[in-house]
Amino acid sequence: MDSLLFYSTNLKARAVNAKDAILNGLAEDKGLYMPESIPRFAPREFDALRGKPYAEVAFVVMRKYLAGLISDDELLRLCRETYTFDAPIEKLDDQLFLLRLDRGPTAAFKDFAAQAMGRLINHFLEQDDRRLLILTATSGDTGSAVANAFHGRDRVKLVVLFPIDEVTERQRKLMTTLGGNVTAVAVDGKFDDCQALVKDAFVDPDLRNLELSSANSINFARLMPQIVYYVYARLQFDSDVNFCVPSGNFGNLMGGLLGRHMGMPMHRFIVAVNENDEFVSFCTREQYEPIVPSRNCISNAMNVGHPSNLARLIALYGGMIDEKGIIRKMPDMSAIRRDMWTTSVTDVDTKAAIARVYKRYGAIVEPHGAVGVRAWEEYVKATGDTTPTICLETADPAKFPETIREVIGIDPPLPDSLSAVLHKPEKMERLPNDYPAFKTFLTTRFGRL
Ligand SMILES: *Cc1c(COP(=O)(O)O)cnc(C)c1O
Repeated sequence: MDSLLFYSTNLKARAVNAKDAILNGLAEDKGLYMPESIPRFAPREFDALRGKPYAEVAFVVMRKYLAGLISDDELLRLCRETYTFDAPIEKLDDQLFLLRLDRGPTAAFKDFAAQAMGRLINHFLEQDDRRLLILTATSGDTGSAVANAFHGRDRVKLVVLFPIDEVTERQRKLMTTLGGNVTAVAVDGKFDDCQALVKDAFVDPDLRNLELSSANSINFARLMPQIVYYVYARLQFDSDVNFCVPSGNFGNLMGGLLGRHMGMPMHRFIVAVNENDEFVSFCTREQYEPIVPSRNCISNAMNVGHPSNLARLIALYGGMIDEKGIIRKMPDMSAIRRDMWTTSVTDVDTKAAIARVYKRYGAIVEPHGAVGVRAWEEYVKATGDTTPTICLETADPAKFPETIREVIGIDPPLPDSLSAVLHKPEKMERLPNDYPAFKTFLTTRFGRL
């Protein structure tokens, strides 16, 4: 079987198959990889998935992108090993449902993709008898999801750099208690300093023999598995649904959009953003301007002033935007507005939504999910649409205890995955914000893989 080809959204790099797209991460022209054509569900194939376990839905969806590169047996096994956690739907009323995506090992939706990516990359490296040293800089959540995803994968060594004073204790412990092939490095600096150290290492000719790579958030493997929970959730409804997606880098939303373009029946996406409202102005004024620097909101994983996956979204609708944020070709704006309704939510309204959801339904949502619920309320007011809406809840409330305590006076219970790490011993390196020191650390520690 010929495998699906992926082009770069900057249109200069050559097309590659999914394996190379995943091992490369970013295309060499700095564009993002997109499938040349979106695979479709065959007639009746979608409905035949009703009642199937999550892992089997994941297999059917991901196979459409990976066929020819990994055997069916192997892919099914990978899906079963990965998805030992579920994506439960909580009904709040006839119109409003929460899809809880917080049951993975780091209690955030990023686990759904990171866990599959870790296994896929390890598998592809095994096929070619290769090893990689993966460097990643994090401001907190991504690093813990990626560290848990690569922990114990024998072809990979992972170094996570984080700013010593900018991550919460819980975030830090999710990275420092793993050990084995995961090395946590606390840097005396800010997130941007960590990112600069990693970037310097990638272009350093002295480090070429280390086989460095990044588990970048724009990797197609961080996207493809995110189609699955939309399909899995949609299969549990007999009627049309809307999906409401709290969005930052638009990776989550892109998963849903790909699902729709594969033929998943649905009505509309509600794209909920915080005060970083560049996408809202793009949809209304048809002009795009990144927000620099990004605005700090309590839904901090969504503080993004220039979403990296926008390049994919615009490509999916026939346009082109380069890595600097300049639109080279306008996408089909009427199709974008047909498929997506978007609004920006302030911190004040986010907190009010946390309180309202608790009072009205007895359910606890954290700030990112609350941005979604508030956006849905505005959508209903603006359109009168009564289609049942599935709001994606992207993290466990226990990851944001300060806000929850402040607004509703409750300490959200810790899920097992988080409480387990609290008492494990921590191990980390401490480094100054200094490239020569980081380089010495890498060569002495990883000189031979
Ligand atoms: C990363 C993240 C988001 C934003 O997802 P994108 O794919 O970047 O749009 C929302 N909520 C939480 C809790 C996150 O960690």
